[in-house]
Amino acid sequence: MYASVVVDVNAKRVDKLFDYEVPAELASIMKVGMRVVVPFGPRKIQGYIIELVDRNHEKALKPILHIQDMTPELNTELIRLSEWMQTTHIAKRIAVLDIMLPRAVKGKYHKVYRLEEPEEVSDELYQLFSQNRVRISSLSADQLAALKPYVEAGVITEDVEVRQQQKVKTQKAVELCDINLDTALEALRSDKQKACLLMLADEGVLTLKELKERDFSAAVVNGLVKKELVRKIDIEDTRDPYQHREFLQDGKKVLRDEQQTAYDEISGAVAAGKNEVFLLHGITGSGKTEVYLQTIADVLDNGQTALMLVPEIALTPQMVERFKARFGDRVAVMHSGLSMGERYDEWRKIRKGEARVCVGARSSVFAPFENLGLIIIDEEHEASYKQEDYPRYHARDIAMWRGEYNSCPVILGSATPSLESYARAEKGVYRLLTLSRRANQFPVPSVNVVNMRDELAAGNRSMFSAELTQAINDRIQKGEQIVLFLNRRGHAQFLLCRDCGHVPNCPNCDISLTYHKVTDELKCHYCGHKEYKPVTCPNCDSEHIREMGVGTQKVEELIYQHFDGAKVIRMDNDTTSRKGAHEQLLDKFRDQEANILLGTQMIAKGLDFPNITLVGVLNADTMLNLPDFRSSERTFQLLTQVAGRAGRADKEGHVIIQTYNPEHYAIQYAKNNDYTGFYKEEMNYRRIGKYPPYYYLVNLIFSHTDMKEVLLESKHIHQTLLHHLSPSSYVLGPAPCAIARINNQYRFQIIIKFKSEPELLQALTYLDDYYYEKFVKNKFNLSIDINPQML
Ligand code: ADP
Ligand code: ZN
Ligand code: ZN
Repeated sequence: MYASVVVDVNAKRVDKLFDYEVPAELASIMKVGMRVVVPFGPRKIQGYIIELVDRNHEKALKPILHIQDMTPELNTELIRLSEWMQTTHIAKRIAVLDIMLPRAVKGKYHKVYRLEEPEEVSDELYQLFSQNRVRISSLSADQLAALKPYVEAGVITEDVEVRQQQKVKTQKAVELCDINLDTALEALRSDKQKACLLMLADEGVLTLKELKERDFSAAVVNGLVKKELVRKIDIEDTRDPYQHREFLQDGKKVLRDEQQTAYDEISGAVAAGKNEVFLLHGITGSGKTEVYLQTIADVLDNGQTALMLVPEIALTPQMVERFKARFGDRVAVMHSGLSMGERYDEWRKIRKGEARVCVGARSSVFAPFENLGLIIIDEEHEASYKQEDYPRYHARDIAMWRGEYNSCPVILGSATPSLESYARAEKGVYRLLTLSRRANQFPVPSVNVVNMRDELAAGNRSMFSAELTQAINDRIQKGEQIVLFLNRRGHAQFLLCRDCGHVPNCPNCDISLTYHKVTDELKCHYCGHKEYKPVTCPNCDSEHIREMGVGTQKVEELIYQHFDGAKVIRMDNDTTSRKGAHEQLLDKFRDQEANILLGTQMIAKGLDFPNITLVGVLNADTMLNLPDFRSSERTFQLLTQVAGRAGRADKEGHVIIQTYNPEHYAIQYAKNNDYTGFYKEEMNYRRIGKYPPYYYLVNLIFSHTDMKEVLLESKHIHQTLLHHLSPSSYVLGPAPCAIARINNQYRFQIIIKFKSEPELLQALTYLDDYYYEKFVKNKFNLSIDINPQML
């Protein structure tokens, strides 16, 4: 028997399968998907078994050395998926496998020296070795020099040790020995011991902790161990990130008519095992989550599993709560806020089939479920579903693949669907389900747009319009709560000289430095460059160099100056960097320890507090000015989402949007809560501009420290693409990127626009291979972004 293996070497030239012999003693236990150690050149490295073939190979092969884990890390589905991603995403197979598995699975490598003939070295050198091996990185230069002759003579050999990064946590437990229960009970005098034995006979295994909780002391247990009636064993312990939380049981709600229709359609597809895609378009609060919960319940009753993706769970603790309340221990939760160990445990709960539902962020789209019966992507329009680092992928594409593989339905849910998804629904590729009313029958909040230019003209230079000021005062007086939203994207704070207009830029990147008040520093968010804030203008020496743009911290100060009785909770990157901080701040706000919640993008989602009756958007339009074809769509989505935070209970909600562009269609349609109006108008711009969903895009970015080199290569790339692609595709550029230099690398881009391009993957693969070689030799870097989220 031989095995085809993907080896853990992150290099293009080994991005293929290597065949190894399966030694006879491993043949009966070897399974596809297992992690193994194989010889690779002079080294030993880790790899994954992709295929087992039961016949002889033409030539003699090196053998697999050993198996790392008895349970395969990868199931057949994930192996097939990695194959598909390798070709369609222009990504190395091992890089794809890497993102599918939790970090804890990957072993670490150490280079070691192994002492083959201990009697050949001096006592002093012998001391260095423990169990005849020593880690090379732990040796000093002198020690290395002393060992060198022995290495050359073959007395010491170089080797690689693979280490498990994350050990499984264990705890002590007790089980019955192989005994005759009746005889054993008769022989016992202590009632406590009898009771303990009976309970173990009943329940199989109990941990020491559980026994103690049931009042069986260590003495009772040890007595039984001594009589050889029971024995102590180690069992796997899982870290539960939510163990200190209690979740109330939550029952099904009676669905309202639109919800019922949506549920009927989806559960029909679940029952039929039909791979259909549903676009669930429902305004915030229309009861989408209730529909998810009830369809998932059906899936579980069917004996299947369900996967639910959310943009970033750390930001939506309420979603986790609702899932735990409904499905209890059957829910696994995966997001970036978990420790490596917690993540590993949640992942294994899924693999072992203990968890049947997973609520998770982007990368949990690779959750190792068997028998998936439903995949849900909530807030499907969110940009965070796209992984922007190599290997780039969009969770929606992966979900579609898995839906097809498992022959199960996929739900895309959103109050503001991406134009791509809505267009597909209009074409009938997806089935559109609409929830147009709030589930709790409370009215949609009223929205007012305030023109900040008028405020300026009327002499109001503060960041609060007269209308917003009055509304805030009113809510404070009534004891109601307020959410104030500061749009941070495209709104960084920078320094500006009022005399000469100078703005301090990063020396390595073509971008202005951001001012951080806490440390009084200027920082570059692209390369990490830091410097102290200058006292006078570096250009004209003027003292009038000041910060422009306002941060949340500044706004907090202003609120206290402006409003009596204000008590603010501020939520931004600074106040939420600690683990769990986000949840704590929200809990405080829910408990009404403050009346104003001030925050950035992160407060736009998922808040569902009954006492919020006013939402103020301080600066609606900063994002509109970004050079990105999706800037209107993003603005519309964000405003709609923020507005949805108001009036979630019996008190009526009101929203005030402050802007310098009150007539902009994205703002007007958001004000009127008119998705289809926005969709039609935006589609028109997309058609004219040849943007998605009318055209697909590929963004190629190439960079090098030498500007001439970049220009030269960019022309070559342009020519290559023109040569390969059909005339119906557009190859635009090369042009400097919006940020033309990052970390002293000059950056140019080429954008491909196409409707259908059979040669595309071949051309991109060719470029990827060609520039991989170039990169190795020449540090030229090419990145390929298929279906970019940002340009
Ligand atoms: P969405 O996910 O669309 O924002 P939710 O599912 O969170 O909407 O529902 C909004 C609120 O309405 C929640 O408090 C939820 O418990 C409640 N709700 C949803 N469906 C029903 C129903 N059928 N009957 C009563 N209340 C409901
Ligand atoms: Zn100046
Ligand atoms: Zn920089």
